[in-house]
Amino acid sequence: MEEILAAVIDRDPEQKEFHQAIREFLLSIGPVVARHPEYGQQAVLARIVEPERMIMFRVPWMDDLGAVHVNRGYRVEMNSAIGPYKGGLRFHPSVNLSIIKFLAFEQVFKNSLTTLPLGGAKGGADFDPKGRTDAEVMRFCQAFMAELFRHIGEDTDVPAGDIGVGAREIGYLFGMYKKLRNKFTGVLTGKGLGWGGSLIRPEATGYGVVYFASEMLGLRGETMEGKCCLLSGSGNVAQYTAEKMLQLGGKVLTMSDSSGSIFDEDGIDAGKLAYIKELKNVRRGRIREYSERYPRSVYVATDPALDYNPLWLHQADCAVPGATHNEINVRDAQHLVDGGVRLVCEGANMPATPEAVAVFKEHRILYGPAKAVNAGGVTVSGLEMAQDSTRISWPREEVDRRLRLIMKDIHRTCLEAAAAYGLEGDYLAGANIAGFIKVADAMLDQGLV
Ligand code: NDP
Repeated sequence: MEEILAAVIDRDPEQKEFHQAIREFLLSIGPVVARHPEYGQQAVLARIVEPERMIMFRVPWMDDLGAVHVNRGYRVEMNSAIGPYKGGLRFHPSVNLSIIKFLAFEQVFKNSLTTLPLGGAKGGADFDPKGRTDAEVMRFCQAFMAELFRHIGEDTDVPAGDIGVGAREIGYLFGMYKKLRNKFTGVLTGKGLGWGGSLIRPEATGYGVVYFASEMLGLRGETMEGKCCLLSGSGNVAQYTAEKMLQLGGKVLTMSDSSGSIFDEDGIDAGKLAYIKELKNVRRGRIREYSERYPRSVYVATDPALDYNPLWLHQADCAVPGATHNEINVRDAQHLVDGGVRLVCEGANMPATPEAVAVFKEHRILYGPAKAVNAGGVTVSGLEMAQDSTRISWPREEVDRRLRLIMKDIHRTCLEAAAAYGLEGDYLAGANIAGFIKVADAMLDQGLV
């Protein structure tokens, strides 16, 4: 294990986020590799930490004033042992190869857990859609797809959305792919309902988070009813996590964006959530405006000098980080424990640092790791692919039923895999072990490719 990690670090010393993901994964699967010498003999680990293919490309585009900009595009096709590559695209100025590799690596095991035949990938660009006009975003998406189209396809690699890539961007990307290929296929998921999209796809990640959290609570004879919850983010994942929590009787106290966070003691109810959706999805405004609209709430601006996030200071029962990676550090984790939080479910990918996760473990917090908890998005993406292939659309209830069943199944699989290695109740170990074994066995079956 140490040799594998050392080789990864030695090969790409600057890729900190990728190292973090690999380290966490290797810690969990030690006992599996010890029990299965064939994985070692066939160098499965050394192969699994190296992407099958990495594509980096120039994205030149023109803004509304005629100035030319050049961004860098990425697609990391990590592993296709159990199905075509699948994973989102992220448009955010922080995007680099390390971040895309960590996300692609996590995606491999997440997709494996869904029970669907999906390999793992991730992509994106260091482009910031914030403050750009629709026309600029369209030109960027078209320029991005003008290169990406030659690497993807409905049976090869099927991208989706992620941070900064929502319904608008998927529309522009799909339009360009269709024009270049002269083919109407399910090459992207998260499409509009009228042109190949699936019902429940926008809701899927957030709903899935709450279904998973409910399973965790259910084992203790509890439900979401009456639970106070802290959410971060105010994008796709946070919005639909909030929606499902409200439907199940929970109370949502906080949401945020990169500029700051709001705390609403009265709770963000359905009406207020509708306001946030309109603010974020239509007007593309800032969460600060919420406190102007609802003056009983409190807004706190992000202070880069602080080494903790004030959002996690509030008293609550549950917390769902739904913004970005490493948003909960060891201090935040301690604040959550001190504030009475007993359940942390990761809506975002890798939102807690390893030190924060250690605090949760030490205090026996119910901790659900991202690759299990937020797998609902890719699950419904997989169901969208199935509907596209058969040219049949399933009703809302059918997609939701399948999503709920799969989240239940992922929850059970994590617990069983952990228990098989004497790690009862360890969802993180269970998710890594179960996700890994399926992919590793497929790699062994398929030989050295
Ligand atoms: P969105 O772009 O819809 O929303 C992201 C939210 O997080 C926004 O409120 C954004 O604020 C905030 N945010 C982004 N980057 C930062 C940052 N560096 N610091 C503070 N806040 C930040 O993205 P999603 O909701 O789709 O994704 C959120 C997380 O969930 C990501 O980790 C993503 O990988 C993960 N995820 C998403 C899935 C999906 O189906 N969409 C599936 C599985 C995981 P601002 O607007 O100011 O940037």
